[in-house]
Amino acid sequence: MTMQRTFSIIKPDATRRNLTGAINSKIEASGLRIIGQKRIHMSDREAREFYAIHAERPFYNDLVSFMTSGPVVVQVLEGQNAITAYREVMGSTNPSEAADGTIRKEFAESIEANSVHGSDSIENAAIEISYFFTDEEIVG
Ligand code: ATP
Ligand code: MG
Repeated sequence: MTMQRTFSIIKPDATRRNLTGAINSKIEASGLRIIGQKRIHMSDREAREFYAIHAERPFYNDLVSFMTSGPVVVQVLEGQNAITAYREVMGSTNPSEAADGTIRKEFAESIEANSVHGSDSIENAAIEISYFFTDEEIVG
């Protein structure tokens, strides 16, 4: 067991439906701590850079439009094995494949509008956290 930090986004489909608190309840019930959090409207450039790994995928432009379509809540989560732990709380990318009790099973609208993002590796967690947060904005 290793104490880790991961980066989370509550996506525009969820903020639009007033689900920030419901999602945070699931995060906290899992034992993860929210040690940094702010509500922002992502710029086109931020969304393009954030999802640059998907630039060649057919859904890239739609994904950027979606992520900039309304406010998001960016978060830093901390806990034991936080990266894997949060991916489990989130559920599969496609909500129709997500396990019962997961955020995406309960709240996601579609494979695109799937309510949350979570980092997929230690390296990406560090990159994504520092992209959106200064050290002073994270209070562990
Ligand atoms: P995230 O990176 O947001 O945590 P993920 O790691 O489960 O999600 P990725 O494969 O990294 O999934 O895809 C990034 C995001 O792109 C997905 O969360 C979803 O919003 C969107 N996406 C992925 N696959 C598709 C698809 N086939 N059609 C439309 N949008 C998609
Ligand atoms: Mg991903």
